[in-house]
Amino acid sequence: MICEMCGKEVPSTLRIEVEGSILRVCESCRRFGKLLDPLISPTPAASGSARPWNAPVGAIPPRPRRSSEERDLFSEVPDMDLAPDWGRRIRVAREARNWTQEELGKRLNEKKSLVLKLEGGSFRPPDDTIRKVETLLKIRLRSDAKDALTSA
Ligand SMILES: [Zn+2]
Repeated sequence: MICEMCGKEVPSTLRIEVEGSILRVCESCRRFGKLLDPLISPTPAASGSARPWNAPVGAIPPRPRRSSEERDLFSEVPDMDLAPDWGRRIRVAREARNWTQEELGKRLNEKKSLVLKLEGGSFRPPDDTIRKVETLLKIRLRSDAKDALTSA
């Protein structure tokens, strides 16, 4: 590749912006413009779980271990057993409130298409969503005996 600034043959060029035009230049010419190609491509942690990770580049971040100890921590919250007619329960409770699917979606912070799938029983939602639905509609979607809802 040839640097568009000095004409030198270089193994790789960098894109810089010089007065509005983009040039492919060599390492030593990049200071003449604003660098467009990031030197390092950081992979920011997913928003929400902002865990500082200041290890040197190239290091491998700690991975959660799937050990038996860890399983035990979560074993008290197994995947919920849903009632066979959980989709219908959502629809009935929603209609009792005269909410549209769109409105239910908004209240759940979910898309209407998800509500459609839920009511059709075609999508088994994550437990978090189940809890949200249960709390919002004051219904139970689970088939287990434990009553998670207080009839407040
Ligand atoms: Zn150059």
